[in-house]
Amino acid sequence: MSRVYNFSAGPAMLPQVVLERAREEMLDWHGSGMSVMEMSHRGKEFMSIAEKASADLRELMAIPETHEILFLQGGASSQFAMVPMNLLRGKQRADYINTGAWSKKAIAEAKRYCEVNVAASSEASNFTTVPPQESWQLSEDAAYVHYTPNETIGGVEFPFIPETGDVPLVADMSSTILSRPLDVSRFGVIYAGAQKNIGPAGLTVVIVRKDLMGETLDGTPTMFDYKVHADNGSMSNTPPTYSWYLAGLVFALLKEQGGLQKMAEINKRKSDKLYAAIDASDFYRNPVDPACRSWMNVPFTLADAKLDATFLEEAKAAGLTTLKGHRSVGGMRASIYNAMPEAGVDALVAFMADFEQRHG
Ligand SMILES: *Cc1c(COP(=O)(O)O)cnc(C)c1O
Repeated sequence: MSRVYNFSAGPAMLPQVVLERAREEMLDWHGSGMSVMEMSHRGKEFMSIAEKASADLRELMAIPETHEILFLQGGASSQFAMVPMNLLRGKQRADYINTGAWSKKAIAEAKRYCEVNVAASSEASNFTTVPPQESWQLSEDAAYVHYTPNETIGGVEFPFIPETGDVPLVADMSSTILSRPLDVSRFGVIYAGAQKNIGPAGLTVVIVRKDLMGETLDGTPTMFDYKVHADNGSMSNTPPTYSWYLAGLVFALLKEQGGLQKMAEINKRKSDKLYAAIDASDFYRNPVDPACRSWMNVPFTLADAKLDATFLEEAKAAGLTTLKGHRSVGGMRASIYNAMPEAGVDALVAFMADFEQRHG
């Protein structure tokens, strides 16, 4: 068996010990005589798995009792609709901050349900910055403010949590959740597709302030109502049981490894190393304002784009895979979530230096 360092943006690497544990428990989970995949979601075995995962996530992120944790399906993309459906609560308008490709998708979907005020945008810088809060034009009557703390494609991350007073703050944390500690009490809703920094695809984690639930837009499908899921422990219908279980193994591991403070230290060190390597060379380039560089997704280009294919080929031969940049950006992108070992970043940095020497 040979495992590669997989720099995919998502679905992304999972911790090897989690995969090994899942393998050990595959055919017979804790003497139940069955795989987690085969269990009734309402049986006591799966209920214990589900409750532990939820409790571990609450502890890891220090999620206060004012907030509910939901384990849903439909991906972060479904949240683009669920957020307005649940949070408009009689209002007509919502504020959005546009910092790149995922912000734009959230905005386009919200426009189907309400008037969207783009309160700030970094489009003028080609999405290489985050607009400073002083420049935002927030509405008086916004139902909520939505932003994308980490733009997975552009590699831009907010260096601050926006201040929105009494207006609920909503964050698409798909590619940054669990990368560092967070003051959850400042958010109305946090949502994340699991396949980047949590677990396998198929699961969407939503953390929602309890007092914001229960007043959906007319015509909201039952399955799009946060309250329905909250009232039923995310078991109003069959939840993505196996993904929930694997996410639980990841949460338990993160706790064991020292929690999110420890993850933050490691993630900062990993990304510092990679950006330092890029900045030290004229051959590689990252266009993002250093104050807003993502810890999780690091796009970079080569001085000569004609070398891209060779770079990818040789990287793959060296066990460094899925480095191709998003089609909208080109170049390379190294996604270095929690599960990417520091040794993987070291190997990439060494490969880049060697490649530059041979081709630069
Ligand atoms: C990947 C991603 C999405 C889309 O997630 P799906 O689960 O595929 O719907 C949305 N927002 C951000 C920031 C992402 O990184």
